[in-house]
Amino acid sequence: MIAKKYLYPLMFSASILVVSCGDGESSESNDSDSTSTSVQESVLETTKIEKFADIQILQYDIPGFYKLSLDQQKLVYYLYEAGLSGRDMIWDQNYRHNLAIRGALESVIQNYEGDKSSDDWNSFMTYTKRVWFSNGIHHHYSMDKFLPDFSREYFDGILSESGTELSAEIVDLMFDPNTDMKRVSLDGSKDLMQGSATNFYGTNITEKDVNDFYAQKMADAGNHPVEFGLNSKLVKDENGVVSEQVWKVDGMYSEAITEVVYWLKLAQGVAENEEQGKALGLLVEYYETGDLQKWGDYNITWSQATKGDIDYIQGFVEVYGDPKGMRGSYESIVQINDFDASERMAVLAENAQWFEDNSSIMDEHKKENVVGVSYKVVNVAGESGDSSPSTPIGVNLPNNNWIRSEHGSKSVSLGNIVQAYSDAGGEGMLREFAHDQEEIDLAIKYGKIGSKMHTAMHEVIGHASGKINPGIGTPKETLQNYSSTLEEARADLVALYFLLDEKLVELGLIESTDVGKAEYDDYIRNGMMVQMRRLEPGAVIEEAHMRNRQLVASWAFEKGQADNVVERLERDGNTYYEIHDYDKLRVIFGDLLKEIQRIKSEGDYTAGKNLVENYGVQVDKELHQEVLDRAAKLNIAPYNGFVNPIITPVEEDGNIIGFEMIQPENFETQMLTYSDKYGFLSK
Ligand code: ZN
Repeated sequence: MIAKKYLYPLMFSASILVVSCGDGESSESNDSDSTSTSVQESVLETTKIEKFADIQILQYDIPGFYKLSLDQQKLVYYLYEAGLSGRDMIWDQNYRHNLAIRGALESVIQNYEGDKSSDDWNSFMTYTKRVWFSNGIHHHYSMDKFLPDFSREYFDGILSESGTELSAEIVDLMFDPNTDMKRVSLDGSKDLMQGSATNFYGTNITEKDVNDFYAQKMADAGNHPVEFGLNSKLVKDENGVVSEQVWKVDGMYSEAITEVVYWLKLAQGVAENEEQGKALGLLVEYYETGDLQKWGDYNITWSQATKGDIDYIQGFVEVYGDPKGMRGSYESIVQINDFDASERMAVLAENAQWFEDNSSIMDEHKKENVVGVSYKVVNVAGESGDSSPSTPIGVNLPNNNWIRSEHGSKSVSLGNIVQAYSDAGGEGMLREFAHDQEEIDLAIKYGKIGSKMHTAMHEVIGHASGKINPGIGTPKETLQNYSSTLEEARADLVALYFLLDEKLVELGLIESTDVGKAEYDDYIRNGMMVQMRRLEPGAVIEEAHMRNRQLVASWAFEKGQADNVVERLERDGNTYYEIHDYDKLRVIFGDLLKEIQRIKSEGDYTAGKNLVENYGVQVDKELHQEVLDRAAKLNIAPYNGFVNPIITPVEEDGNIIGFEMIQPENFETQMLTYSDKYGFLSK
């Protein structure tokens, strides 16, 4: 139903890079567990990492901020403030008691003067951090309510000693292992509304109430429906009358929305161009009226406003927090164009024909006029609501399908977030799985740029390349369930084939083809071993991108065995892969590219199936277990989230003359500051 995809790195996410593909599918690029110096101007250190429960808090940098004009910096800042001003809404949307609970936990932290070194206190702090992280008392991913590890008696004690009030009913619910256990339940055997603790619906609303309320509206909507229910809570009064409480100025959440609107108007005043300003104006009108038609108009304008360096997501957008998939969770993401990435993409796109002409594929499968796929990387400058602290790493909006097909959509990869995830794995994964110091050094020097180049080439020239023979159906028709894996393999192979090409140096994209060598090391390490850490013991590979990576790596390994192109070796019981001949490996990648293009062009299902089944699906169980054991030692938390850099205006005579950016002291300080500064629904 929803065309967009939110791309979360899930388990083991510390060094997973997920980017959205030009073909609208998601792909994970190979891990680049390296910490080389970036070619992009770095502004902030991103070294601090905080851990609690199953969570790791990271920092991100905002490269490019100081390349912006003062007005552009103001635009970023106003959008950033607008985003944070709405923060309380997500808390209330997630659960009806979240704001009261958060207020009590924070009051205890600020006013309790007893022992802050006891196990109980540590448990209390861990619980509070989990609540902050999930914007409420339900786990951000599993949606399960998490219960305190400290006792009810202890909690009552610190509440009273800190002069904090919280109703007994709410405290009961915090500790109750039977009530409101799931924020969103999709268990169709029960009433979805009654099984879900989300505050999108009054507690007495049933699934039938929801269906009845919207049935006629939806039937009457025609081909261009609004997103029904997106911006309201559905409630039922004592007479059984069902109605929407709309989130708007002078409606529900008015105090927060009024603040959001204040900042959006300032943003509109410094818009980079007419379209962008028009979109911001429509967003303001929508918040002022609650009119979903305006939201539709806004989305049409927003999806076409592609000219500026700055963009944003703002509003009640994603509907995963609603078991009925109607109501939008509040979120904000402020984005600055990734200038370096854009330049890379542009250079590749301009030279797309050269790459096509010089590819290893058969001439008859080459396009005479190839057009690079357009692909956008942005850097996040601030997140709030449902996107924070846990964040997506790629976004594709708007959600409304008819707007997407008739007016277009925007698909972006959040570059600095992806980078921060990659850095969070640190050198740990690299040092564990690289076979020697030389490989580590090369990865540290060139791993980052190698990975970025791979992604850019995969997207811009990889997916764009090749043509299908006349009279052959689409790959989905001919290659069926193997088409995604083969398509991703093809795009990866285009990138790999050219990563060792001097042409990239000539185009100024890399300083040396050693970048390609670092990426080859990484690809083999990942495809043969590292990615298996995401599989449960005993599992086979199901996911298309993982299949593709193992297929490419293991096919190349096998074909090169006679010449010892890639060697499998063992040291102290650990397995390693070492590339002995990069140029020969390039030729092998080229051969596989040619074959997969032939399979696609001719629609050769049997050959495609054999490739995937023989090289991409089964895993070496012994090696898999070894990888799991080695990865477990590194103690990487399954879930990651972020603190936002703090952006502060520098004023002179009442005018903003610039901005300062720093990292917050820690997660706790940022959360307390946010509640204090942006607690518009909780004061
Ligand atoms: Zn792809």
